[in-house]
Amino acid sequence: MPKLRFSAISESLKRQRITIEETGRRSEIFAQNVFNEDRMLQYLTKDALESVKGAVFSSSKIDRKIADQVAEAMKGWAISKGATHYTHWFQPLTGSTAEKHDAFFDLLPDGRALEKFGGGQLVQQEPDASSFPSGGIRNTFEARGYTAWDPTSPAFIYGTTLCIPTIFVSYTGEALDNKAPLLRALNAVDEAATAVAKYFDKNVTKVNATLGWEQEYFLIDKALAHSRPDILMTGRTLVGHSAAKGQQLDDHYFGVIPQRALSFMSDLEQQCTKLGIPVKTRHNEVAPNQFELAPVFEEANLAVDHNLLLMDVMEKIADKHHFKVLFHEKPFAGINGSGKHNNWSLATNTGVNLLSPGSTPMKNLQFLTFFVNSIKAVDTYEELLRSSIASASNDHRLGANEAPPAIISIFVGTQLSSVLDELEGVSQGKLSPEEKTELKLNVVGKIPEILLDNTDRNRTSPFAFTGNKFEIRGVGSKANCAKPMTVMNTIVAKQLIAFKKEVDTLIDKKNLKKDEAIFNVLREYIKTSKRIRFDGDGYSIDWEKEAQKRKLSNNKSTPGALQVMTSTQSLELFKSMNVLSEVEVRARLEVELDAYILHIQIEGRVFSELVYGYIIPSAVEYQNLLIKNVMGLKEVYGAAHKKLSYGQLTIIEEIAEHISALKKKTDAMTDARKKANAISDTNKKAAAYCDNVKPYFEEMRYHCDKLERLVADSGWPLTKYQELLFIK
Ligand code: ADP
Ligand code: MG
Repeated sequence: MPKLRFSAISESLKRQRITIEETGRRSEIFAQNVFNEDRMLQYLTKDALESVKGAVFSSSKIDRKIADQVAEAMKGWAISKGATHYTHWFQPLTGSTAEKHDAFFDLLPDGRALEKFGGGQLVQQEPDASSFPSGGIRNTFEARGYTAWDPTSPAFIYGTTLCIPTIFVSYTGEALDNKAPLLRALNAVDEAATAVAKYFDKNVTKVNATLGWEQEYFLIDKALAHSRPDILMTGRTLVGHSAAKGQQLDDHYFGVIPQRALSFMSDLEQQCTKLGIPVKTRHNEVAPNQFELAPVFEEANLAVDHNLLLMDVMEKIADKHHFKVLFHEKPFAGINGSGKHNNWSLATNTGVNLLSPGSTPMKNLQFLTFFVNSIKAVDTYEELLRSSIASASNDHRLGANEAPPAIISIFVGTQLSSVLDELEGVSQGKLSPEEKTELKLNVVGKIPEILLDNTDRNRTSPFAFTGNKFEIRGVGSKANCAKPMTVMNTIVAKQLIAFKKEVDTLIDKKNLKKDEAIFNVLREYIKTSKRIRFDGDGYSIDWEKEAQKRKLSNNKSTPGALQVMTSTQSLELFKSMNVLSEVEVRARLEVELDAYILHIQIEGRVFSELVYGYIIPSAVEYQNLLIKNVMGLKEVYGAAHKKLSYGQLTIIEEIAEHISALKKKTDAMTDARKKANAISDTNKKAAAYCDNVKPYFEEMRYHCDKLERLVADSGWPLTKYQELLFIK
């Protein structure tokens, strides 16, 4: 009998819920472990505080003396809270976060010990960059990289370590991480959006991109998850027959949260709250053992950091509660996968959400300006946006039989669509007083009322306007939101700059009034970006055909989707917005392709191991049992045994057929892998893995799952779907 599966099951059935007490009101414990403005007020001199705030709100530099003061203050605060170490906390291109802890502890030359942490250590560190992906930047330049303090994201204490959010760049200044380009993109959109917002309010001096992510995940009992080599090594099940019951009864979504999961959530939320992550919503998702957590939205850079920190905290708290949390986009076949919707908007320093309609026609014109420009930006760069959410694991959602599709389209709802349709009819050049009144009263003036009724939500859309923000739904549950956020903010920045130029030209050269000029430019944008708007069923085959007619991209797999990164248009965009140089973009493409190759390669290896180490041996064992039985029957009944052993004989043959087909496919997959490995060009190698290796997985799985059905349950070695998904 397969020991691991059954001991895991009995272990999981013995679990007791860990009771979690609330340690205080959430508002009281909020950001307890964060060196935020309140702490700074306590610990910093006025000059130092102003300087840090300047860096946060107007991107000014912090000088070394001030950095020393800040470091001293941070150290004092951190030590008072029991911290012993500090680390620069950064986001290498591996997709997760990295940290190297150093003790505050130091020795003086005379051997006395003290706690030390100066401005130098706060501002900059030089971790060895050679073990992080660099896409060739490391070879062409220097092996050294350094991390540099990002004062816009406050330091925090995690465990007993003071974590200082930093960017990670090569010695020659190329970004080696996901944060540096994001900060550059946020800077670009700030400048561009502020300039446009000034048309409507001169007091606007800064615009922040905002991000509210919604994190989906699965919680699986730790012992059960660890009993599956595929979950352990790849984060998903490569095989597994679906359970008799899946999600068809819709009894999980918004259902009562299971007790153990609820304890985990309470614990997690308290930790997050102390770390300043404003967690707010928790609920069951559609699939069994699938859940979601969402915070209140924040400034995008902070929100990205908080999402990465959350994923880290989740893994640790899950472990404490004897769970394994799965962030993979498709851990189980046949039931829903997980995503991470990115709700995005722009907010001014005057407290206005630029994608929220207001109470006056002018405010609504402002809304329309940002709304239409965002649509136009996505229309121009839809393929690039798609590339920013591409990954081997997200391929199981985008373009597979899963939400949302790989085609980027925008849902705005029927009512806003009709507003846009009306605006398409605005006259060229100057507007008559009647037309202006009509626009003010009946088109622009009606927007807030429309939105109140605009409750229809199209869940099949990958990019939807939801009342006061856009929701990017294709982002993978495992992804670093920095990637789509970098692209989104960069394309909107580029678009807003072009818009302002056009409007100013109409005002200066054609003598149009500001609002006339804006209407004129928006009208053209609405016309030219029409193909990206789609309110229908994004999963239908008809849409795929229609999208092709509209010349929208439909890249179903990662290697194909990534190619657009280095198109002339993309390179020009990143360069002109100072977000990424050509060297940096090419390096990133290399890193992404490499990650893809490694991912499929690991899956291929694990799959062979499952087939030869687990599945075939158990099938043979069961088959032998049947053969013995048939031989016994023959001994007892003689010629009459044939009729009696009909069922056994059929199963013996079926098992044999599946085993030989499985062996053939597995060996062919391994051969394809060997061939792919011999290719040195990264692009071609990724394509080979995608087109020649990966397709075997489904075919192999078919036979494995059939064998799972044929073999006695007591002899099946791999923990089954019903156990993974229904033991709570
Ligand atoms: P849903 O129906 O998709 O769950 P919600 O209204 O609950 O929609 O919002 C989902 C997410 O959108 C939350 O994380 C929330 O913080 C975020 N959100 C709301 N307003 C904004 C905004 N202006 N900018 C960015 N995110 C926002
Ligand atoms: Mg949502």
